[in-house]
Amino acid sequence: MSDLLEKNYHSIQKQIALSAEKVGRDPGSVRMLAVSKKMEAEKIRVIWRLGHRLFGENRVQEAKVKIPEMPVGGEWHFIGGLQTNKAKDAVECFDVVESVDRLELATELQKRLELAGKKMRIMVEVNVGGEAAKHGCSPEGVGELLKSIQGNSRLEVIGLMAIPPFREDPEMARPFFSKLREIRDRLQETHEVHLPELSMGMSHDFPVAIAEGATIVRIGTALFGPRSA
Ligand SMILES: *Cc1c(COP(=O)(O)O)cnc(C)c1O
Repeated sequence: MSDLLEKNYHSIQKQIALSAEKVGRDPGSVRMLAVSKKMEAEKIRVIWRLGHRLFGENRVQEAKVKIPEMPVGGEWHFIGGLQTNKAKDAVECFDVVESVDRLELATELQKRLELAGKKMRIMVEVNVGGEAAKHGCSPEGVGELLKSIQGNSRLEVIGLMAIPPFREDPEMARPFFSKLREIRDRLQETHEVHLPELSMGMSHDFPVAIAEGATIVRIGTALFGPRSA
């Protein structure tokens, strides 16, 4: 198992570098978020031992158990739908919440951070495909949400995140990736903010996301193999 994971790891790193170079980007400007949801601790440790420290989880309940079992010094991103009543636990477990999509949640995070005496980096999740079943702020609403969040001293918005509609053909996701980048570029002008991070692209479409400007690609199955149900 560990040989296969190691092989996957190096193969993905190589594909990330190649995809970046192909469009004239610095390979160091793209980081892999190892999406360890539903993966056993032993698998995560294999990746950890290779020197990797950036991990993503999508359930607070699961992360509360898993993260403390890992060595300290990792950077853990929350990438799932976050219920307001889980904000307290999210603040305790995670370094970055990538999926902030409404003011109510930002306000609750701010409150919990104040109580904990902490600050947190967050990203705004944008529903680029306008899908009813998906989380994320509407593309039209991001500016207003960002403006409201800017008043929260404990939250530092570092960028945008998106999960485009799933398509077999990764090329079909390209317009959604470029849309997220355009929204980011526009916000940087209108809101005088610096939003360096674009979290987009998963196992099957990350090379396209990198071509469109991704700085974080979220890789689960291509790295760890299939998730148990
Ligand atoms: C599960 C998940 C991923 C990883 O998906 P893979 O297709 O396994 O790479 C990425 N982003 C989010 C938000 C996820 O929930």
